[in-house]
Amino acid sequence: MAKVILEVRCNEYAMRDRNPHVPWSAEEIGTDAAECEDAGAALMHFHARNPETGAPSHEAGDYGAAIRACRERSALLVMPTLGAHTLQDPLERVAHITALGRDPASRPDLAPIDLATTNLDPYRSGRGFLSEDTAYVNTIAGLRAQIGEIHRAGVAVHAVLWNVGSTRVLGAFQELGELPHRLPVEVVLSDQILACHPETERGLDAILDFLPDSGLPWLALCAGSTGLPLIEAVVERGGHLSFGLGDWPYPELGTPRNADVVAEVVRRIRAAGGEPASPAEARELLGLA
Ligand code: ZN
Repeated sequence: MAKVILEVRCNEYAMRDRNPHVPWSAEEIGTDAAECEDAGAALMHFHARNPETGAPSHEAGDYGAAIRACRERSALLVMPTLGAHTLQDPLERVAHITALGRDPASRPDLAPIDLATTNLDPYRSGRGFLSEDTAYVNTIAGLRAQIGEIHRAGVAVHAVLWNVGSTRVLGAFQELGELPHRLPVEVVLSDQILACHPETERGLDAILDFLPDSGLPWLALCAGSTGLPLIEAVVERGGHLSFGLGDWPYPELGTPRNADVVAEVVRRIRAAGGEPASPAEARELLGLA
């Protein structure tokens, strides 16, 4: 039976207007980690947030507190964000990874790098663009600097693929010897972010077709929508999954907590013939020491 890694994208930059259970504080993120592990998750991805306002935090201390809270309560692997478009300078984006790496208790298991420069303005058919000036710039020099800092911190790189172009940048960094030949990758699908492939089997297959190595462990996520209809296709293709309140408030499940979303995804993984991977199994599948 195929083991399927389930990552929780617990908060991203989601506010609480559509679901009040989006975790912001370290305490809330740690509680979610424990609940999500019980429900079948293996990996926690989070963005440090101001506990009162939900504003993005770039403080290494806030990231460290959340990682410690996750590890006190769970065995989940942890992957903090680099801050995406909320920080412009590529080295500022990895400053907290460098700081967290100095202490094994706070050192992340993985750090994501986005191998594309994109417009992030969501487009909704019938409503138009919801914003028009959110460019997310990742230069080659910036990516190279981030890869170096992440590796020096003793953290594994998780390569995020936004489109076919990203797969080619991945292949280039591998050929140059700057990224390992075996590393976890994540495929971003989105109906709203037009730089991404659509949330369809064809959209997914186009990226998988261009992966530099068909044996790479890959996860799929849907940014800005439910993603639930794609689970069967991902499990059939031997992939892994990423879900959470950071991407979608899941009104179709009532007003769920992250663990409720995980439980529903696990139910569908099993219906598709898979079985959720434990954190230890995920570590092995992702090639982490
Ligand atoms: Zn994120």
